[in-house]
Amino acid sequence: MNKNLVIRHAAQVVTCSGTQAKRGKEMASLSPIEDGCVVIEGGEITAVGRTEAIENQLNGFKGEVIDADGKAVLPGFVDSHTHTIFSGDRAEEFSWRLKGSSFLEILERGGGIISTVRATRAATAESLYEEAILRLDSMLAHGVTTVEIKSGYGLDLDTEIKQLEVARRLDATHPIDVVPTFLGAHATPPEYAGNQDGYIDFLNDIVLPAVREKQLAEFCDVFCDTGVFSVDQAKKLLLRAKELGMNLKLHADEIACIGGAELAAELGAVSADHLLHASDRGIHSMAEAGVIAGLLPGTAFCLGEQFARARHMIESGLAVALATDLNPGTFYSESIPLVFALAVFGMHMSVEEAVTALTINAAAALGRADRIGSIDVGKKADLIILTLPSYTHIPYRTGVNIVYTVVKNGSVVWGRSRER
Ligand SMILES: [Zn+2]
Repeated sequence: MNKNLVIRHAAQVVTCSGTQAKRGKEMASLSPIEDGCVVIEGGEITAVGRTEAIENQLNGFKGEVIDADGKAVLPGFVDSHTHTIFSGDRAEEFSWRLKGSSFLEILERGGGIISTVRATRAATAESLYEEAILRLDSMLAHGVTTVEIKSGYGLDLDTEIKQLEVARRLDATHPIDVVPTFLGAHATPPEYAGNQDGYIDFLNDIVLPAVREKQLAEFCDVFCDTGVFSVDQAKKLLLRAKELGMNLKLHADEIACIGGAELAAELGAVSADHLLHASDRGIHSMAEAGVIAGLLPGTAFCLGEQFARARHMIESGLAVALATDLNPGTFYSESIPLVFALAVFGMHMSVEEAVTALTINAAAALGRADRIGSIDVGKKADLIILTLPSYTHIPYRTGVNIVYTVVKNGSVVWGRSRER
């Protein structure tokens, strides 16, 4: 595949320039370049600037040239929190919820995560792969070039490994890069009903070391919340993961404020996600410790919950990332446009902050801000061309996908065409 490419005369190149998460006020800075040009050689960005300034340096350039008149160029989106590998669906349970059943009521009736665990345990690796690849195709069409995928629908050794091996295969075969996260502590499996401590010990003694030995996950995550795993249980697991050299993430304070945000700060987690009920103290300690807040407004929307306090977090100096949380229970959607709209209209983030949260900050939430998430010289050429001239059209064309072309590692991997 040709990995040399010039995109020139873009109405705007939104660079999101940087190599680390942008915090607080910095999130509003996108560094757009008008009449912009991006030069890609060998899959890497080698020049960015105004077209007239760069074009005369291009004598002898061999590669494809795209004229992007009237179109904006952005970094590829990074979806930094998903549960993409699973079998079955929970459409029926979703309709119960619409009639008023709560998350915990559904869990107590044997629904929720455990019903997906049953289906995922029964599925072959091949069928999990086939189901997941369709979801990745949909993400790619929405401009996603890197995705994080969690395990957590096995809750036993074999199925957790099976999920993570599927993630590895997806990474190897699909244009989207996949960052794998171990989420064995997503729920307590039936075999350990009433014995959560025993399950944490099983994860620590058997599953985590096996995942680590096979190098199947970069991050370890835990659902730290009321009715799921306590702060003490989460801490025990995460300390073990840290000892094994893994980076940490938490599902924190989604259902109730139990101190998940504070724990993320104490342990130096890369991100804490959801945070619908995070306390002021938790937010403050996350800002001090440099923990990224991963906000998932699609999930809050479908659960009918109040959104996370994004404004308060940004004003407290936090770095906020946005993600879909694609999962079969509470938000089965690859829709970046919907997440973007909810961030802007529901959480009152500015358009600039939302772009930052889906690019450089999301890359930082996956420990990759030095390689992706912005259009900077030396970074991987993962970028998108919109059908329209400015990033401001993303919320304006509310809920509509305005991605025109997706470039991954310098190659066009997805695009619209009027040829018939
Ligand atoms: Zn999640």
